[in-house]
Amino acid sequence: MKKQSGPGSDPASIPAGGPAPLVAPTFQVGEVAGFVIADGNAQYPPDFLFANIGDAERAESLAGRLDEQGEVTSHYQCIVLRTAGHTVLVDTGLGALAEVMGAPAGHLRPALAAAGFTPEDIDTVVLSHAHPDHIGGLVHDNRLAFPNARHVMSATEWAFWTDPDSLARMHEMLSAPARALLPPLRDADAVDLLDREDQIVPGVRLVPAPGHTPGHCVVALESDGERATLLADAVLDDLNFTHPDWVSYVDVDPETTEHTRRRLLDESARDGGRVIAYHMTGIGHVERRGRAYCFVREVAAGGEESWRS
Ligand SMILES: [Zn+2]
Repeated sequence: MKKQSGPGSDPASIPAGGPAPLVAPTFQVGEVAGFVIADGNAQYPPDFLFANIGDAERAESLAGRLDEQGEVTSHYQCIVLRTAGHTVLVDTGLGALAEVMGAPAGHLRPALAAAGFTPEDIDTVVLSHAHPDHIGGLVHDNRLAFPNARHVMSATEWAFWTDPDSLARMHEMLSAPARALLPPLRDADAVDLLDREDQIVPGVRLVPAPGHTPGHCVVALESDGERATLLADAVLDDLNFTHPDWVSYVDVDPETTEHTRRRLLDESARDGGRVIAYHMTGIGHVERRGRAYCFVREVAAGGEESWRS
């Protein structure tokens, strides 16, 4: 297992320029072009997404948003980042697990193709954390789905999801994907574990944001004086902006989840950088509203329409 050895640790192995995308970037941060690649979506029971509030408050907040089964749609959005020398994929969607779940998701591969990227083009895969909806696409037809990529994730996260005692305490729904999908990375010597904030490639940093899981990370982009943060699962829904203390059933440490969320949203509100969250469509910025926040969408796109158009 290789350790990250620093900025652009092996630039010689990566072809300059890379593929020419078929679609315009969804967003641009200085020299970094970002493409939202929709994996699909899934329906969640409201008390899964908002687990620590009363039924009446939950129902009132979600008025008009529930489907016929009384569930909430949550989007899955992977991101491709094109930098001067790298093609980076952030998170891999639900993959084959979509069939098991019966969810209209797992579409990362065709969505990448529609945007003009082949799996071989991806030289770096960043995993924000090891929940099934983020690691599901790591393996395809019993092989690593992105054969030329080094896979970057938090060392804390790796330890949590590969430790037999830790796995034994988890619900099978969470532990089974980790047991199946993480060891192939280790066996192929294709994983780089970072134990602190660090650069992934120039302009792209992995930043610890614990709470949702112990080693959950966000991805900070900075280029030519512009900033953006890929918030991953630090927020799961617009309601986490207006109610930063609302946590989900799978936020491992609720107190740390809220603390991390407030830190990230405070930073973004202060520096004016844009934010994108894995489960929310749209790109926007954060405004403070007293003790809470507001997600101000600047670009509505980011769902399936970003690659179907
Ligand atoms: Zn997620």
